[in-house]
Amino acid sequence: MALKLEALLLVLGLSLAQPASAHRKLLLFLLDGFRSDYISEEALEFLPGFKEIVSRGVKVDYLTPDFPSLSYPNYYTLMTGRHCEVHQMTGNYMWDPSTNKSFDIGVNRDSLMPLWWNGSEPLWITLTKAKRKVYMYYWPGCEVEILGVRPTYCLEYKNVPTDVNFANAISDALDSFKNGHADLAAIYYERIDVEGHHYGPSSPQRKNVLKAVDTVLKYMTQWIQERDLQDDLNVMIFSDHGMTDIFWMDNVIELNKYVTQDDLQQVKDRGPVVSLWPAPGKHSEIYHKLSKVQHMTVYEKEAIPSRFFYKRGKFVSPLTLVADKGWFITENREMLPFWMNSTRKREGWQHGWHGYDNELMDMRGIFLAFGPDFKSNFRAAPIRSVDVYNIMCNVVGITPLPNNGSWSRVACMLKDQASSLLCGQLTIWALVFILLLCPI
Ligand SMILES: [Zn+2]
Repeated sequence: MALKLEALLLVLGLSLAQPASAHRKLLLFLLDGFRSDYISEEALEFLPGFKEIVSRGVKVDYLTPDFPSLSYPNYYTLMTGRHCEVHQMTGNYMWDPSTNKSFDIGVNRDSLMPLWWNGSEPLWITLTKAKRKVYMYYWPGCEVEILGVRPTYCLEYKNVPTDVNFANAISDALDSFKNGHADLAAIYYERIDVEGHHYGPSSPQRKNVLKAVDTVLKYMTQWIQERDLQDDLNVMIFSDHGMTDIFWMDNVIELNKYVTQDDLQQVKDRGPVVSLWPAPGKHSEIYHKLSKVQHMTVYEKEAIPSRFFYKRGKFVSPLTLVADKGWFITENREMLPFWMNSTRKREGWQHGWHGYDNELMDMRGIFLAFGPDFKSNFRAAPIRSVDVYNIMCNVVGITPLPNNGSWSRVACMLKDQASSLLCGQLTIWALVFILLLCPI
């Protein structure tokens, strides 16, 4: 019986351990706004680059983003493994009442302040501190000094990188791996999100940009072989969130119809999630007026559903408005975020948006991986954006910081035998059960 108990403890011990891999190099792609069904089985038939990657590696059913299903919150969730209320990057637009500083989607100078970024340590900072070399291309925030550290190399994001920029970044990253300059390279690409916003997730424009990415990724797999990196390099491709259709003709909620601007101290963002700071003494009045508005929900901070892992964030406003799927909240129609279309005037309508309830199907993103540490032609169950961090740490061989990710949801992707045993709780307990039954 003692032996049996020992064996049982070993199995349970294995289930908790995250076996370190052979410190291989890692190439990351963050493809903004890439919805999970853009690479459905049907779609893959027209995307030979992605199809090859899927057959050579791991594809999860989908990746559930953190709430709000917006970019900056999920960029940081992916790179820290922590929920937004833990890492503190709770919006694309944030306001800090105590300093009167704003974070405006990374473009204003105050967005670079450590205030917004120091809430958690992202993987690239941990690696740099550990004397590993990190190369980042257009990655939002790579230019920021976080907890006193910057990555080895940062090609700063200025405006939407082109497909040529993207291909050059991949080629440069692979050269950096080959000549021993880089241990991790991370590349950001935005055009799938941009076309999804402008023309909608099902538009030919969005499909065309995906084909362009597909072509570049097809070249990438060749370039990896040409540089003889295939046994030493893992590749992960993931997105921050999906995209859904919006309808500005009908589905717009104009806040000015219900509250006056003088009663508001601050308003941040427009669209699916809007943050409101009522003027002193106006909280209850505004809350009650907005409670009656259809197609959206107004939450007082403490009443925000716990499943959003959002309400404890220090930049979360006293009132948060969350629109129903496809609805868009703005002060008035003139304030809608039009884009500069071919007329060269800001009059283009947006046809796609994201940020809604993170459990909605259209908000789901992707996760793909291939390389020496990953199983090939393996379809995995859905994961969440908090789960990506642990798998990245494992394949680069660094101990993860405390995080909200689930190791059991990602361990099954790895080739490593010990990890493969840990494909979800059910498998672990099935093993325990077998051990208890077996005579030792
Ligand atoms: Zn977007």
